[in-house]
Amino acid sequence: MLKLLEKYSNLLPVTSSTPLITLGEGFTPLIQARKIGEMLGVNLYLKYEGTNPTGSFKDRGMVMAIAKAIENGARSVICASTGNTSASAAAYAAAFDLRAIVVIPAGKIAMGKLAQAMIYGAKVVQINGNFDDCLKLVKKVSDDYPVVLVNSLNPNRIEGQKTASFEIVDVLGDSPDYHFLPVGNAGNITAYWLGYIQYQKEGKAKKLPKMMGFQAEGAAPIVRDHPVKHPETVATAIRIGNPASWKRAIAARDESKGFIGMVSDEEILKAQHLIALKEGIFCEPASAASVAGVIKMAKSGIFNGDETVVATLTGNGLKDPDVILREMDKISTIPNDISAFIKEVGF
Ligand SMILES: *Cc1c(COP(=O)(O)O)cnc(C)c1O
Repeated sequence: MLKLLEKYSNLLPVTSSTPLITLGEGFTPLIQARKIGEMLGVNLYLKYEGTNPTGSFKDRGMVMAIAKAIENGARSVICASTGNTSASAAAYAAAFDLRAIVVIPAGKIAMGKLAQAMIYGAKVVQINGNFDDCLKLVKKVSDDYPVVLVNSLNPNRIEGQKTASFEIVDVLGDSPDYHFLPVGNAGNITAYWLGYIQYQKEGKAKKLPKMMGFQAEGAAPIVRDHPVKHPETVATAIRIGNPASWKRAIAARDESKGFIGMVSDEEILKAQHLIALKEGIFCEPASAASVAGVIKMAKSGIFNGDETVVATLTGNGLKDPDVILREMDKISTIPNDISAFIKEVGF
């Protein structure tokens, strides 16, 4: 199997003593969004991270963080999580013989993600608080006890996540003009930007993209320029009020002449449906914030029509079907009868 850490080893903190572990992360598809692109008048590509082993981009950073933890002799790892980091940490820890401790906000995790942390055998602890409270706690614990923090504060997470930019340039032959991302703790926008810069320095890309980050309106500390005490959004993966990589996200925005904006839950869910209905891809709500951002920017008239735009779909929709299943009562139940059936389906 082609290993992410091996393919890009010269661009990552991989040394001769780093174990080249893998669960098959990375090498995700860059899918041309033909219909949505045409609607908006841009060449739109979706970097679909839902095909990673635990169903989100977190695996790119986690494989690097876990490899370095093993290299340094660690026995256990800890993280705070809105869901996907815990799923990823738990999977890699299980496969490579580390203990995983994950701390999550009680009642605020999508069921699929919680099930992942559980099946992989992590020690799961719920806190009566939000993600920001969980992160503060695990930071303190990892300072005082022999356990490695694998949130994106761990620089190896960011290093691993740069590989998504490398893959995009490998496919397109250059950086896109714009790159759209959902922004939660802001590690990923930081990582993509560093990846594009590094690839340009390597001579693999000629230009750099404008970095376009989108937060949810109820959890938009960067846009509002102050921490949000009680962040709220249907997009639980970006339900974060005080992002750890706040400053670096602003640097990515400003250095790239990009933009960080916000979209409403309604816009997020509309985009999620559109991506499924028009392109056949089921992403989770947080992921759709990127495409909601593209739609918003297209309406504001920033595109000429010849730009190449990439939007990252950060995670697989199967992790979080709750919002969609709220409409389950729309499914019709009919008598077991052929004529009733023909009438129902409208032949
Ligand atoms: C973690 C996550 C995000 C947010 O990424 P950050 O690096 O925290 O900004 C967005 N979408 C999904 C699905 C995630 O798991």
